Amino acid sequence: MKSECYDILIIGGGPAGATLARLLPKKYRVILIDKKEKDSGFQKPCGGLLSEDAQRSLAQLNITMPKDILADPQIFSVKTIDVESGLIRHYQRTYINLDRHKFDMWLLSLIPDNVEKTNGIVRNFSINEKGYTVELFDGRVFHTRYLVGADGANSIVRKTLYPNKTMPSYVAIQQSFREQHKTPFYSCIFDKKTSDCCSWSISKDDVLIFGGAFAPQNCRNDFEKQKQRLGKYGFRFGKPIKTEACIVLRPKSYFDICTGKNRAFLIGEAAGFISPSSLEGISFAIDSAILLAETFALQSKNKEKKYLRKTFHLRLKIFKKIIKCPFMYHPMLRKLVMLSGFTSIDVK
Ligand SMILES: Cc1cc2nc3c(=O)[nH]c(=O)nc-3n(C[C@H](O)[C@H](O)[C@H](O)COP(=O)(O)OP(=O)(O)OC[C@H]3O[C@@H](n4cnc5c(N)ncnc54)[C@H](O)[C@@H]3O)c2cc1C
Repeated sequence: MKSECYDILIIGGGPAGATLARLLPKKYRVILIDKKEKDSGFQKPCGGLLSEDAQRSLAQLNITMPKDILADPQIFSVKTIDVESGLIRHYQRTYINLDRHKFDMWLLSLIPDNVEKTNGIVRNFSINEKGYTVELFDGRVFHTRYLVGADGANSIVRKTLYPNKTMPSYVAIQQSFREQHKTPFYSCIFDKKTSDCCSWSISKDDVLIFGGAFAPQNCRNDFEKQKQRLGKYGFRFGKPIKTEACIVLRPKSYFDICTGKNRAFLIGEAAGFISPSSLEGISFAIDSAILLAETFALQSKNKEKKYLRKTFHLRLKIFKKIIKCPFMYHPMLRKLVMLSGFTSIDVK
């Protein structure tokens, strides 16, 4: 089989990879490889909530989103439940409720024609004096000067570049149910007995999505146990229509973020760019892609160092969220914050 040569090869066409492919200077010959398909196959499990930060990232790109990506209804508050203390508070939120797969396909559709897009799964890659050789499961082989890992939480690029670095990770499990609640709502759930992270529910197009992040050892049991414990808070689940699971990263230190080396770069969740407090990752994916595109627009020889420097404020943002975590996740501090009613709203 004939193998092709590129300047930049991007693995992964989520928000990070699609944004980078759209913004890279035209002087580069670029290919993006992604395992997603439009109507079948892999779809990223996600709550599909576009945070204010992600909206700002899109505003920065000066693009507008078509309305068929929106989910129904749009909801303006999140019901926060602390199972341990029994406290419930409502907080105003300005998320956009969307269909995540449609959002991903829309971002991919914005990539200009000079970028080649191909469907496939990368099996492995190796470094050589000219760059990298990338091999797909279907046997195709590509050569590239620069490699970009935009391949999400389970990134083979990060694992290959940093084999000794283990990133704190959880198993995110999501189930979809026919919506049975009278009024659609968002919720955020803390239940220390089943997880030291959080869970969420989102009403979307007559479907209730319930998901959470759990320690890998006993994740499925903990998920089911938590569903039972939520019965007394009025949750009605019924029979699941769909169950999905994937890894989600949760950086615990500033140094967990890896931006790449040796002409290989990491963007989005592959780099560890995801909020450890809310697990919001779309804004970080877009922002890190913008910064890498800017790096490639420079004449600089040491692009790895330039990109590392450029991402300083993103890493600082993650660090600030790490500092915020105890106020959300330490039972006593969370109880105090919720008891104070600080920034909460009354819902009739
Ligand atoms: C259950 C769950 C709910 C979430 N909810 C939200 C939310 O509501 N709002 C929010 O902002 N964030 C949310 N996040 C986080 C957010 O989804 C991610 O941080 C974000 O998608 C990261 O974008 P990315 O482009 O870096 O990676 P991804 O979106 O994961 O994209 C990676 C892409 O790489 C491709 N890929 C991976 N490996 C290969 C390979 N070997 N070969 C070819 N292609 C490959 C995949 O097809 C995928 O398209 C959630 C995460 C989870 C797990």
